[in-house]
Amino acid sequence: MNSPIPKQIPATLIPGDGIGPEVVEATVKVLEALGSPFSWDIQQAGVAGVTSAGDPLPAATLTSIRKNKLALKGPLTTPIGEGFRSSNVRLREEFQLYANVRPAVTIVPGRFEDIDIVLVRENIGGFYVAHEYYIPVGDDPRAVAVSTGINTREACKKIARFAFEYALKNGRKKITVVHKANILKALTGIFLEAAREIAREYEGKVQMNDMIVDACAMQLVLNPWQFDMLLCTNLFGDILSDQMAGLVGGLGMAPGANIGDDCAIFEAVHGSAPDIAGKGIANPISLLLAAGQMLDHVGHKDLALRLRTAITDTLNKDHVATGDLKGKASTREFTEAIIRRL
Ligand code: NAD
Repeated sequence: MNSPIPKQIPATLIPGDGIGPEVVEATVKVLEALGSPFSWDIQQAGVAGVTSAGDPLPAATLTSIRKNKLALKGPLTTPIGEGFRSSNVRLREEFQLYANVRPAVTIVPGRFEDIDIVLVRENIGGFYVAHEYYIPVGDDPRAVAVSTGINTREACKKIARFAFEYALKNGRKKITVVHKANILKALTGIFLEAAREIAREYEGKVQMNDMIVDACAMQLVLNPWQFDMLLCTNLFGDILSDQMAGLVGGLGMAPGANIGDDCAIFEAVHGSAPDIAGKGIANPISLLLAAGQMLDHVGHKDLALRLRTAITDTLNKDHVATGDLKGKASTREFTEAIIRRL
């Protein structure tokens, strides 16, 4: 370790929308009991931002993250089709959080056992740039829809280097680069080309292969154990990481870290789950695991390990789980069970 870890680490806390406040409350309680070093600055975003400050990404929230360079975020609702642009996407752009790290690890035995895959997703470019417009034809103002994706060689090399460095630091042996370079020859071809170039620097240390995204989706179901790490463009990474969550018990089990050169935001992979919001039954594990990634990020690997062990023991030794994992516990009961295991 290079420098001592400060006792108090200021971090922005965004409760978010839907089940966000419920899973954030659970996570903060567990982190308190764990003796985590974070001191929270609570800020709003998403629909909660619109309600409180008339803006899905209020200036105060941006200022807080800019100052702390560290945030834990509940899910934010984004209107479908119409309405304001995703605050998640805006946050990633604003703070240049170019790497999205989404691990999927089996904690409870389910349909698939012993899954341990880390997906690294390019987080700013690709189709998420969403330069979109309609072309009117006749009396239909939206007769034609056009969307443009952008990947730069520089950004592709940067995310590839991030993935290879992650592999080295975390004892991972193989990276599968996911693309659609047979059809999107430019947009995803440049991604594959850049990854191949970077891979040469890591020859003998980390292997690389590549797979077309549709084949990868099938292989993830047929033989997920062949994968160690996936390196994906933005949209493919978004889709495949939800599929990977399905391999380990669903969206309640999937954390994600958004990492930039000097700022990081940690979140659950899932959204605001409006269908179960307010019922007190949401599974907080995704956000708890994201908090574990956050502890790792600030150098508290010991606390992160204790947190993950408590989650595993609560599920497998105490057999306490929320409904999505076929358990009977409420969010609060599950949270208390984890705290007893810390
Ligand atoms: P969702 O992830 O919110 O929900 C999908 C399904 O999974 C629902 O049936 C939900 O009940 C279940 N689920 C999700 N998280 C759960 C948990 N912790 N415990 C138990 N069950 C859980 O996806 P959606 O319904 O497509 O999206 C709802 C909203 O969330 C949309 O506005 C979307 O834009 C937003 N969203 C935000 C983020 C983010 O903030 N990072 C990510 C994805 C979606």
